[in-house]
Amino acid sequence: EDDPLVTVAKPHDRLLGGLLSPDFDDRSCLSRYRAVLYRRPSLHVLSSHLVSALRRYESLHRLCGPGTSAYERAVARLRSPPTPSNTSDGDAAPSVCRYIVWTPHAGLGNRMLTLTSAFLYALLTDRVLLFHRPGDDLKDLFCEPFPGSTWILPDGDFPLRGMERFDMRTGESLGNVLGRGEGTLEPPPPWMYVHLRHDYTRGANDRLFFCDEGQNALRRVDWVVLLSDNYFLPGLFLIPRYEQELARMFPRRDAVFHHLGRYLFHPSNTVWGMVMRYHGSYMARAEERIGIQVRTFAWAPISTDELYSQIISCAHGESILPRVREREPRNATTTGAQPDSGQPTRSKAVLVVSLHGEYYERIKDLYYEHDAAGGEAVSVFQPTHLDQQQSGERLHNQKALAEMLLLSFSDVALTSAVSTFGYVSHGLAGLRPWVLMSPVDRKAPNPPCRLAATIEPCFHSPPHYDCRAKARGDDGKVVRHVRHCEDLSNGVQLV
Ligand code: GDP
Repeated sequence: EDDPLVTVAKPHDRLLGGLLSPDFDDRSCLSRYRAVLYRRPSLHVLSSHLVSALRRYESLHRLCGPGTSAYERAVARLRSPPTPSNTSDGDAAPSVCRYIVWTPHAGLGNRMLTLTSAFLYALLTDRVLLFHRPGDDLKDLFCEPFPGSTWILPDGDFPLRGMERFDMRTGESLGNVLGRGEGTLEPPPPWMYVHLRHDYTRGANDRLFFCDEGQNALRRVDWVVLLSDNYFLPGLFLIPRYEQELARMFPRRDAVFHHLGRYLFHPSNTVWGMVMRYHGSYMARAEERIGIQVRTFAWAPISTDELYSQIISCAHGESILPRVREREPRNATTTGAQPDSGQPTRSKAVLVVSLHGEYYERIKDLYYEHDAAGGEAVSVFQPTHLDQQQSGERLHNQKALAEMLLLSFSDVALTSAVSTFGYVSHGLAGLRPWVLMSPVDRKAPNPPCRLAATIEPCFHSPPHYDCRAKARGDDGKVVRHVRHCEDLSNGVQLV
């Protein structure tokens, strides 16, 4: 706290130490200034440089956002780009207002991580971040993050159509532009597409986004469209030109999503209503809140019995949940173990969040049928078990976001490996979770879980490309702060 350049937010500081702008109406977005009341205080330092970068960004967004004349001009230029023959001097000057249009792809966790990555990219390159919302599924989910403006791309008259279907073959993609040797063409094209979906590493040139060549080509373009399902943010730390600025914004590299996620993601009043009702009814009065997120993936099969045992052996082994007293055998003369008559020593509320209902059922039964060894009162809850992922449905996404928020109020977190849903929850909480490691040959590994080294999400598909040598590289060995992930060895994360 003596260092004027960094602060740790005071507990219950509604502006999170300057992270949030005070310029919002409280009632339009109840969660914005209130989520802090329900989370453990953040112990992660915030740099004054990041705070001023955010304020500067907010001014740029106000100047260039939808509804401004600068925005109208930029859209007009996109619709009918200047050609060499009709370019006047004014057109040749670099535009103040340049944009990155984010396009949704994959589940909500992935979307929040790519949005955060796109936002940091916007901060680094002085672009304005716009949120493309092709359907209804992302409506009434998040509040506006930037004061006095909107981040929603007005779809009606936007000249580029079908952005959500762009892929590696899209002719305007950075990879294809560079492949054709057009990265330095004059005048630059009015827009380019950046393809960072997990298959981008298979393309010949899409990974050059993480190299000077790609960044030089993009810098000249007013409109960038991005589609990704990856937390590509750690990859920005591999690009030398951003190194200095990133070091000033994030003197500690291990809380980037924590800060930017708490800056960007404020659930709408509808979602916040769900969160508050659930929290108030089931979680608020407990002395300790334990969040357990159980996610299974088709590529890592494991039986329900095996995964349940893994959860319990982790939870008991690491003292996350109390062990239980075995029941004494019944015989003709006794009526079984006597229940404790005294008051519970401590109350623990366990929030189980999963698409499946079985894990909640079993954990609840365990503490229904047995006494907790230390006499704790253990109550177990699960808000939903929706069985199938349906990321195209609004109510489904609202419930998913509500559950991420509820998990972020935990005192202790136990999550599944590789899940972006889990990354978002504990990233917002600022809590290092216990991670249930992925099964090997359908069996839980030993040990069943590990305390995460960082609260930062994992970038699952890094480029693993050496820009100078133009050859395969190992992104976990380039800079000190980017290392292979614990839960997915091919991925990299900030530490
Ligand atoms: P990931 O697949 O675990 O990396 O997380 P994503 O959030 O990207 O995609 C999974 C999607 O499935 C979520 O966005 C939800 O729509 C749904 N989902 C997965 N787990 C849960 C859960 O525990 N609760 C709810 N409500 N939805 C879930």
